[in-house]
Amino acid sequence: MNALYRILTQRRKGATEVGWLSLRLCAAAGEKSILSRMPLVAVIPEPNAEVEVREVAEPDLETNSALLEVELSEVCGTDVYLQQGRLAGVPYPLVPGHVSVGRLQKIRGELLDVEGRRFSEGDRITFLDVHRTCNACWYCLVAKAGTRCPNRKVYGITYGLDDGLCGGWATHIYIKPGTRCIRLEATPETFMAGGCALPTSLHAIERGDIKIGDTVLVLGSGPVGINAIVLSLMSGALRVLCIGAPQSRLDSANEAGAAATLNIESNDEARRLDWVLGQTSGRGADVTIEATGAPEAVVQAMRFTRDAGTVVVVGQYTDHGTTPFNPHLDLNKKHLDVRGCWGSEFSHFYRAAQLASQRPEAWARMKLISYGLTKANEALADVSDGRVLKALIRP
Ligand SMILES: [Zn+2]
Ligand SMILES: [Zn+2]
Repeated sequence: MNALYRILTQRRKGATEVGWLSLRLCAAAGEKSILSRMPLVAVIPEPNAEVEVREVAEPDLETNSALLEVELSEVCGTDVYLQQGRLAGVPYPLVPGHVSVGRLQKIRGELLDVEGRRFSEGDRITFLDVHRTCNACWYCLVAKAGTRCPNRKVYGITYGLDDGLCGGWATHIYIKPGTRCIRLEATPETFMAGGCALPTSLHAIERGDIKIGDTVLVLGSGPVGINAIVLSLMSGALRVLCIGAPQSRLDSANEAGAAATLNIESNDEARRLDWVLGQTSGRGADVTIEATGAPEAVVQAMRFTRDAGTVVVVGQYTDHGTTPFNPHLDLNKKHLDVRGCWGSEFSHFYRAAQLASQRPEAWARMKLISYGLTKANEALADVSDGRVLKALIRP
């Protein structure tokens, strides 16, 4: 393994010294380098281990690939679960950071956007974190469900360090051939304020099939919940309600346009139901987006939705266990439409980039906190404890 990368040092301490030493050795050996120094990555060595900064060798570029200089990447709930080893099929050591923005530093061969325009070195891009959706398997061709393609690989999640520079918590990302890059006119901060939650929410809103004038209920006030509020309003919702916590995140929900919010910390399920019914003429929400991660929230989403309404489940990205419900009362008698929503496709990323470019005001107010590579452990802890709404890595 590690065909492309020689790990020159393992520990954060001393990385700089070894880095400059290796740079001098490379120069002495006459190696051709496009970088002024070796790429740095923040690595989760194994589940439950602290993140370490390592230095790795500069990759050899295959034809129609590129090297991206990272401007911003992000720390999301998925990264917390990756560090805790709660996701199956993850190849450690892993460089997290699946949604990132940067500038193309070096292109080998040709890189085209979806409209057939050539990318040039220096262009600012983001890229679909999902790579190798095959367009050849049963799920791709018959079910037309690309997010369930068994051949897909995800930068920063199912591509590990042995697969190359494939995570955004790094000074550089290796853009493999076939990666779908998107030209970005938005500032890195505006696009990353939405981050991975933006395409995820966009997909959920698409699944929710919101009608003009609907009342939408969003459960959860994390990044996906906040983006869901913004996008529900863009989709024609008359009112968006949000139930979540802590209060600082509910303040963000209000800033994003929520008509009313309720704190779960001081309201049990019965009081939440009363509140939703009080806000919706006793019927419940037309569409409910569950974006919490708590299994019981899925059943509450069903109970808080009106008869013949729609529930979209987008919060269950990790297995947090089972939850009981009454199939007669909670589902069938209500004539509910309950839909799962897994992953994102290129269309969601593309439209997310367009929205961040053309409607930046929707994301400009979101609070961002950035951390350097050496502060990645701090960033994970802050996200895990809900102290920050959006944590970014600025390598
Ligand atoms: Zn496929
Ligand atoms: Zn994410």
